[in-house]
Amino acid sequence: MALVSMKEMLQKAKQEGYAVGQYNINNLEFIPAFLEVAQEEQSPMIIAASDRMVDFLGGFKNVAGMVRTLYEELNITVPVALHLDHGQSIERCKKAVDAGFTSVMIDGSHHSIEENINMTKEVVSYAGKWNISVEGEVGSVGGQEDGLVGGIKYADVEECIRLVEETEIDALAAALGSVHGPYQGEPQLGFEQMEAISRKTELPLVLHGGTGIPAHQIQRAISLGHAKINVNTENIQAWTKAVKKKLMEDSNVYEPRLVLLPAIEAVKQSVTEKVREFGTSGKA
Ligand code: 13P
Repeated sequence: MALVSMKEMLQKAKQEGYAVGQYNINNLEFIPAFLEVAQEEQSPMIIAASDRMVDFLGGFKNVAGMVRTLYEELNITVPVALHLDHGQSIERCKKAVDAGFTSVMIDGSHHSIEENINMTKEVVSYAGKWNISVEGEVGSVGGQEDGLVGGIKYADVEECIRLVEETEIDALAAALGSVHGPYQGEPQLGFEQMEAISRKTELPLVLHGGTGIPAHQIQRAISLGHAKINVNTENIQAWTKAVKKKLMEDSNVYEPRLVLLPAIEAVKQSVTEKVREFGTSGKA
């Protein structure tokens, strides 16, 4: 199997009541860690590059090349999508499509709803030619988003309906109180609006800021239509902790491979926990 769009995997997840995790690439070593977990758990998976990280990761073609090659080299057989997280412009989304990403997010949420709809429509029309799925966003996730640090803005139900009806996106990120990065206190997710948005749009919803949301809120979000949950901070915290531990325990170590091996294991463990919590194991 080759990399796939996330459209079918999200529709199946929504129907069957679980959520597919999106895990973000922070360097080469994250990719085999994610792919091995997907295969071991027989789980569908969305591997993402955040737009703000793409240049650090060597550009769109490099990211697509690394993920496609490792998918083949590791003999992965489960469905995996390669997604652009928080695509900052129409041009950046087109570049991702041209490079071989199988899914893109166009984040027009910082623009007026009219501009957001127009931007999203253009990306859907371009991506649709190659069967590439598109995620749109309404409202603002707190913390860092698109390289900007900002506050939470709850998605407006009517704007969500307009974006979905006028653009034919495949998944909707309706920001409802979640935050990128650690939470200060218990997350305050807008479950009432979530229920209304899910019922009125009937589209798989995407929960950004998956780190630090308690299990009962995750399960409630899934039961109210979330079919995709994005997690990054928890994985990078596990990575950094493992690197620090290795360097503290072994002051003679200087080979990057030896420093990184425990970090890869830590990321694998962190992602395995999420795959199981989201109910995705055995769903490939
Ligand atoms: P966290 O880093 O808070 O887990 O959020 C990830 C995310 O939403 C990426 O889009």
